[in-house]
Amino acid sequence: MTEEIAGRDAYARMTTATVSEVGDDGIVLDRTVFYPRGGGQPGDTGTIRWDAGEVTVTDTFRLKGVPVHAIDGTPPPVGTSVTTEIDWQRRYLLMRTHTALHVLSAIIWRDFGAKVTGGNMEPGSARMDFELDSISVEFGRDVEERLNAELAKDHPIRVLFLPRDEALADPDLIRTKVNLLPSTIDPIRIIEIGDIDKQADGGTHVRSTGEVGTVHVVKTESKGKGNKRMRIEL
Ligand SMILES: [Zn+2]
Repeated sequence: MTEEIAGRDAYARMTTATVSEVGDDGIVLDRTVFYPRGGGQPGDTGTIRWDAGEVTVTDTFRLKGVPVHAIDGTPPPVGTSVTTEIDWQRRYLLMRTHTALHVLSAIIWRDFGAKVTGGNMEPGSARMDFELDSISVEFGRDVEERLNAELAKDHPIRVLFLPRDEALADPDLIRTKVNLLPSTIDPIRIIEIGDIDKQADGGTHVRSTGEVGTVHVVKTESKGKGNKRMRIEL
């Protein structure tokens, strides 16, 4: 079992750890600050250093539930004490981008009654698809205004670990299909943004929406009937 620090503290940038496995796919550590890609958020990059060397981490992903650090270079042997550090600039931009998507989806649901059908993010830019009948440049501008107004309210963001029974009974979480999570997941990690958004989520987010800054809706497009796409940039 790897202790995954990002799950409870998204602001942890570095930690010491011990190498527990080395394979063709990468390195497994007993403890990590690296976020393994998932939920539309890319995996972290960074460095792993030890007395005799250093490698670059090019990606982090989950293999059979365990975070694996893909590396460029010769790995340290199992048992080595290492210091690990994520590329914080990139990760922090991902945290801001990820948080912006939550607020965007909350506004589209609250004000237009449309659910999210998909999404993806890069550091500083993202797309999200909605179950909307139509979309236009004007609509994009309207949403951009609402989004920035909501972000500026500086809503606090909380990470909660709710017992599965409790999460499944919460009407806000039912809307985001919390019941589809594997039954082995208990407690369920919940991200709550002020009083505007609450969902089961494994990703990393900022502490308050004010940290996101200003967001621009840069493109609106139709991807078919009942599926409209919005692209944003920070
Ligand atoms: Zn999230």
